[in-house]
Amino acid sequence: MKKMRINGQWKAKCNYCHKELASGPRAGTKHLASHLKICTLKMLKMKGGKTLSQPSLRMNAKEDGNVFLESYTFDQEVARRELGNMLVLHEY
Ligand SMILES: [Zn+2]
Repeated sequence: MKKMRINGQWKAKCNYCHKELASGPRAGTKHLASHLKICTLKMLKMKGGKTLSQPSLRMNAKEDGNVFLESYTFDQEVARRELGNMLVLHEY
């Protein structure tokens, strides 16, 4: 868990699923511990498995218009980076 301040309130952010949970002196830590017990992403990572990285096929088109299939593996970090790029590029 990472402790961070959002809008003047202390939040604990799960290192695995990045869920924000209430934190601070009044919130206690019991729910943080119970979150770690049920956090699915943590469980998947603890198993040493590659989370969400099951390859699949996707269609892609070449410049000459030919469509082909390629294998594609979802990567959360790449997706996050690309989303950031998209937001900046299109000025959303
Ligand atoms: Zn979590």
